[in-house]
Amino acid sequence: MADDPIAILFDIDGTLISSGGAGTRAWALAFDEVYGVNVDISRFSDLGMTDPEVGAKSFEAVLGRKPDSEELAHLLDRHVNYLSQTVNESAQYRVMDGAEELLTDLIERGYMLGLVSGNSKKGAHIKLNRANLNRFFSFGGYGSDSADRTELTRAAIVRAEIVFGGHIALEQYLAVGDTSRDVTAAHAVGIKCVGVATSKFNTDDLLKAGADFVIGSLREGLPI
Ligand SMILES: [Mg+2]
Repeated sequence: MADDPIAILFDIDGTLISSGGAGTRAWALAFDEVYGVNVDISRFSDLGMTDPEVGAKSFEAVLGRKPDSEELAHLLDRHVNYLSQTVNESAQYRVMDGAEELLTDLIERGYMLGLVSGNSKKGAHIKLNRANLNRFFSFGGYGSDSADRTELTRAAIVRAEIVFGGHIALEQYLAVGDTSRDVTAAHAVGIKCVGVATSKFNTDDLLKAGADFVIGSLREGLPI
């Protein structure tokens, strides 16, 4: 079929893995190191936000002003530095149900797999490395490309065409994510999105957000 997907774009946190709070702990360590303040970013951020958004919102909430670009860049750098440690130490780190089997199956069936993640590129690879999942992905768009999830999704699409070596129609992409932000960003660039109801957003939430399909877990497979 002409509109059979070629490239499938996966969100990371809550979709492929759960870091068991490793990201939150890395933010706490970074804020403590740089500003000597105790910060729980979960009070100021939502699932599906990009790291630059999380850092800027938490900074503003705690320090009472917006960070300048150098301050934010430094904080992001310290966050990702602590992330290797907190991911490795995380007792609750887990691969989401069916993720590895699905990725293996999709690669064997010839699909190109990419990442769309609010993590920085380095942070994304740190989080996937613990479960040896980086090997499935040949391109991606990251929080280090843009603080805006729509823009980083667009970056993933540009890179998909480079890896593919030609044009891929928007109908031939499929995004997979666990939050309404994944759905909104996919639709903003014109691609379909499968919601995976494995974290805070249940099937109704994802359908309400406009997801084209919803599955209960990756073990159910994708509608392709
Ligand atoms: Mg997610």
